[in-house]
Amino acid sequence: MSVIDLERIQGASSEVVRDINRRIVLNLIRTRQPISRADLARVSGLQRSTISLIVGELVEERWVLEGPTGRLPRGRRPTFLRLNDDRAIIGVDLRPTQIAVALANVNGKFTSQDVMPTPPEPKAGVDALIQRIQLLIRGARDKTIEGVGISLPGRFSAGHLVFAPNLKWRDYDLRGAISEATGLDVELENAANACVLAAIWFDGMESCRNLVVVTVSEGIGAGVLINGQLARGLNGMAGEFGHVPLDPDGPRCGCGSRGCWEVFGSNRAALRYYHESASQTEGLSFQDLLSLAEQGNARAIKALEKMAHYLGRGMRMIVAGLAPERIIVIGDLTRSWHRFGPVIEAEVRAQVLPGGCPPSLIPAHEDGMARLRGTVALVLQKHFGAVHEVGA
Ligand SMILES: [Zn+2]
Repeated sequence: MSVIDLERIQGASSEVVRDINRRIVLNLIRTRQPISRADLARVSGLQRSTISLIVGELVEERWVLEGPTGRLPRGRRPTFLRLNDDRAIIGVDLRPTQIAVALANVNGKFTSQDVMPTPPEPKAGVDALIQRIQLLIRGARDKTIEGVGISLPGRFSAGHLVFAPNLKWRDYDLRGAISEATGLDVELENAANACVLAAIWFDGMESCRNLVVVTVSEGIGAGVLINGQLARGLNGMAGEFGHVPLDPDGPRCGCGSRGCWEVFGSNRAALRYYHESASQTEGLSFQDLLSLAEQGNARAIKALEKMAHYLGRGMRMIVAGLAPERIIVIGDLTRSWHRFGPVIEAEVRAQVLPGGCPPSLIPAHEDGMARLRGTVALVLQKHFGAVHEVGA
């Protein structure tokens, strides 16, 4: 993002320029804190007077705190600036099986977290969620809560879920219900998109402009960053690679179609492969399957290898269609990446187009936290700028 000097611009555009410069300064403080005004001017290229003006405003609005005073050679004692930790965000990770609700500060650090099972009905689910959010609000009276960010296992339009095949909630106004009950702004985002935001904001990937996050759990989701922008598509439906049929005669998928990528490459697929080959079928979780594989159980290994093989095969669509620099894989399977990562990688590399370059495949080991951290970025975006602006 290029820097524009406020003082050299006159007239109608000055407000836009002021906003851009403010975001640049906020992001520089966020990524380089503690930082002095002099260093802000040096790194941003903005005039000292412009920096002083913006910082004055940010301090007054309590986005930024001053102090402590630093010590530099030759007796100079600059005051360092940092983000105000008392600005808090409520993050919600809504999944088909469980809902995590957490309180974080502006730096993406979580101070409390609560998990509950996902009720089957949306009304009961949202009521229970509101109760948990209100508990967090009551426990954070000394903080200023900026809003609620929600990561969803599906796509939505105008606050309504439009596509969430693994979550059996249909057409419910999540944003309206939560906003009305709490008085807070509510931002929604697809879970894989939220993970893209987390990578850009908190994992030092701000320079990466072509990135795909593949979330692998009950289903397969994808969040696409292309040319530095999150791809949304019509109705927010972009990224549904998980529902491209690999075999039209394959097993039925939650979306109503047959043989979708996620029917072959998700956690549920691995459990199905295992059950097809083992006599013990009851009550096994995906984590149990991973543990069995780690203990050397041949059937579990085979089932997970088959899942990994299909994961890699499906990623070929992403590689051929979007040519990302990186694919970040998020999901429980990454716990055994040493075993199954190479299977995925071999599949992806097996069919790179002439002139193409395979992306680096990166396992993310913190699973649930990526979604939650993404919700923090989601809420802060309106102050700090959209995803392509935060790499200041
Ligand atoms: Zn499907």
